[in-house]
Amino acid sequence: MVVGGGLAGASAALELVRQGHTVTLLEARPTLGGAVQTLPEREGDPPPPPDNGQHVALGCCAAYLSFAEEIGQAAALQRRPLWMPVYDEDGRMSAIGAGPLALLRYRHITFRERVQVARASLAIGKLDPAAHDGESFGAVLRRLGTAPRVIDRFWDVFVRPALNLPSDEASAALGIFTVKTALLGPRGASDLVLPVQPLGAIHHTATQQALAARGVTVRLGARVAELAVGDAADAAVLDTGERIAGELFVVALPPAEGARLLGEPDPGLEDSPIVSVHLQFDRELLGPPLAALIGSPAQWVFDRGRITGHPPARGQYLTVVASGVPELLDVRGRNVVDLIAGELTSRLGPAELLWSRVSREPRATFACRPGSAARRLGPATARPNVARAGAWTATGWPATMESAIISGRVAASYLA
Ligand SMILES: Cc1cc2nc3c(=O)[nH]c(=O)nc-3n(C[C@H](O)[C@H](O)[C@H](O)COP(=O)(O)OP(=O)(O)OC[C@H]3O[C@@H](n4cnc5c(N)ncnc54)[C@H](O)[C@@H]3O)c2cc1C
Repeated sequence: MVVGGGLAGASAALELVRQGHTVTLLEARPTLGGAVQTLPEREGDPPPPPDNGQHVALGCCAAYLSFAEEIGQAAALQRRPLWMPVYDEDGRMSAIGAGPLALLRYRHITFRERVQVARASLAIGKLDPAAHDGESFGAVLRRLGTAPRVIDRFWDVFVRPALNLPSDEASAALGIFTVKTALLGPRGASDLVLPVQPLGAIHHTATQQALAARGVTVRLGARVAELAVGDAADAAVLDTGERIAGELFVVALPPAEGARLLGEPDPGLEDSPIVSVHLQFDRELLGPPLAALIGSPAQWVFDRGRITGHPPARGQYLTVVASGVPELLDVRGRNVVDLIAGELTSRLGPAELLWSRVSREPRATFACRPGSAARRLGPATARPNVARAGAWTATGWPATMESAIISGRVAASYLA
């Protein structure tokens, strides 16, 4: 039995089926996908309806890519070589591409600073991530001769979305791991992988179909209130009082909820938020399909209309993502729309806003601060027939879709 229908739970269910088990998956919400959702449709939304936040994977996310294949959704992901256009405060664009030559052409830092970045990257390639969880990635970068302005104008462009925290707040272990795995990895490791279908179509609809096709019983709206394990008949007890008997259990939940069900202390990982603002303007503002804005709360902008193959009849449909910015959670209602739309129009040119929608995810990921590695637990629990999963568990990856898929497979294999 699997408790939790996020990516960790879905991948655990598929792995348990591979091992020959009959599987039931219990998910509290009316949809699968967990943190990866399409927002419930509202009148006036442009097609496709907005997601809870733009999700991006990388070429090195082998487990997530194979999961997409397994659920028949490989074509719903578009893979392209790393090319990240970055706009500075004056609206000038320069792109970060894959490889050292592309780096040397990145004009938002001086040539000397680019050489500094190259040297720091080489040094990072020799570091062992596990030895650096006690300090921030920013501290490591500075020790390697990186100026704070280079952290802001180069490193944080991709560290912040990858770790959902800026370099100065994130564990160096995960910063080093990400640079080594994605930027210094084999050819194609840094490719950008973007969903071209709504997240719900992939991670709810297609996942549910794939699970059903393999005989998994998926119960939505089934909130597990208690795990009665160690009794004569082990069972998950729903909040309705219904008991669902099982032999093996994978608990694929966020850390605090998982700990509650397992009767363990909360591992005490902090949350890190993501705020997404969906905007339709009356004209095209963004030339490339995606871009970063330096020194702005509008950190990353995606042309959702173009990426999903649905450019609106009029203007442009954009999704703006702000990662690890808790202060944005307090900017309420229209103010956050005005703030983000203003950031875009001041850099990219004037335009009239036709439609907007905001998605706030205060618990988007755990905050991978220095010292968090010790709080990330493995699959083993106090009970031999119960395993733990979730993107937050000790996979070595930041809190990503990749981590979730790996954790589900590891938990199921642990029970084998
Ligand atoms: C806005 C946003 C943007 C993101 N961007 C990216 C990105 O670009 N790239 C990337 O790789 N990752 C990204 N992430 C992170 C990624 O989505 C998550 O790390 C991953 O999906 C977590 O999966 P999970 O299965 O571990 O947990 P969850 O998705 O949290 O799944 C847990 C499930 O358990 C269910 N549940 C909870 N309690 C119970 C209960 N008592 N009984 C039954 N079910 C229960 C929940 O409803 C949920 O469905 C983003 C996350 C958000 C929110």
